[in-house]
Amino acid sequence: MKYRQIKKGENVSLSILGYGGMRFPTVAGKIDEEKAGALLKEAIDNGVNYIDTAYFYHGGQSEGFIGKFLEETGLRSRVYVATKLPPWLVSQPEDMTRIFEVQQKRLRVSCIDFYLLHALNRENWDKFLKMGALDFLKALKEEGKVKHLGFSFHGDREVFKEIVDAFPWDFCQIQYNILDVYNQAGRSGAVYAAEKGLAVFVMEPLRGGTLVRNIPAAIEKRLAEHEPARSLAEWSFRWIWNQPEITMVLSGMTEEAHLHNNLHYADSADAGALSRESLAMIDEIRALYLSLQKVPCTGCQYCMPCPYGVDIPRCFELYNSKYLLNQRVRTFYWMQLGGINGNASYASLCRHCGKCMTHCPQKIQIPVELEKVAKDMEGPLFKPTMWLGKRVMKGVHAILRRF
Ligand code: SF4
Ligand code: SF4
Repeated sequence: MKYRQIKKGENVSLSILGYGGMRFPTVAGKIDEEKAGALLKEAIDNGVNYIDTAYFYHGGQSEGFIGKFLEETGLRSRVYVATKLPPWLVSQPEDMTRIFEVQQKRLRVSCIDFYLLHALNRENWDKFLKMGALDFLKALKEEGKVKHLGFSFHGDREVFKEIVDAFPWDFCQIQYNILDVYNQAGRSGAVYAAEKGLAVFVMEPLRGGTLVRNIPAAIEKRLAEHEPARSLAEWSFRWIWNQPEITMVLSGMTEEAHLHNNLHYADSADAGALSRESLAMIDEIRALYLSLQKVPCTGCQYCMPCPYGVDIPRCFELYNSKYLLNQRVRTFYWMQLGGINGNASYASLCRHCGKCMTHCPQKIQIPVELEKVAKDMEGPLFKPTMWLGKRVMKGVHAILRRF
């Protein structure tokens, strides 16, 4: 494992691969503690020393699971733990103290190593300023309740610079990958923050996995021509670590294979190691991808739940897959979202209430895009077929129950 030093504060070296606590394996809607614990232990045994979580991850289970795991395994002293203050639950200044105390309890610590304001954009930043969040953070540090202060970010570059300049932050966390170079904080934001002395942590290095799921043939071909032994996932990680401004890359590893691969890449990734030819190849891949994508959804789920039941990320994922990843997905869309076997969650259930839009870090015009999804993926036969399918399935279940 390679390590990089954070710039401010005491001598702290972080593993260049951090563990993101939002995609642990699950069973029946809960974190599969045995599997997730085994993954975390293996990561720590192989040098990962940073675990990132948040108040809401896994519906509020992630912090508690991590706190319990680290206490029971005695691994607490080998890792730094980060969590985040959610703007959505703060409607008066006292809420911040209440939430922080819950987080201390869940994580089973009196001092949190890295503490972030979560998902800053213009709206959330203005809200935190109004609530006095900067004074609150300052007090936490002075009282020894947190060691390092930062923020995670999903807004535009203008507000990013404003936030960087507004407080003596130790670090920031940005969405950054081979596709997201010019949107959100982007490359220029990463450089700006690093110049101001902040450690820059990266999230969504593979855009929630969508970047490397069902890679288009043209991209596979370009990769094979350049260097057949390296996968797109490996190039994506190496491209980020190639940049000296980046301290660490977070990955929410759900499967053993993800962890093993990422550990392998992180053993040999240095800043400035990629050749000019490799960087040019990655530029070509970016151009190819962007020419295929319909909706820039990362699957982060911040827009959920929709009061009318639309599974927004899944609608966009299937819609994008059809174009970006050349998949025949209409049948999946009908089966999974049509409600034959459960609750319907298809795009045309959208009632344009706008609730989801304020939470979307990608600033997607969700109802407008859902209309396009509905037009493309549903069509006139969709609803009658779903109605009929539901009744048929009810009959099938009734028959099966008799045996
Ligand atoms: S705008 Fe549509 S998708 Fe968004 S929350 Fe409202 S009904 Fe759901
Ligand atoms: S629509 Fe926006 S908020 Fe919802 S999952 Fe996609 S990127 Fe995230």
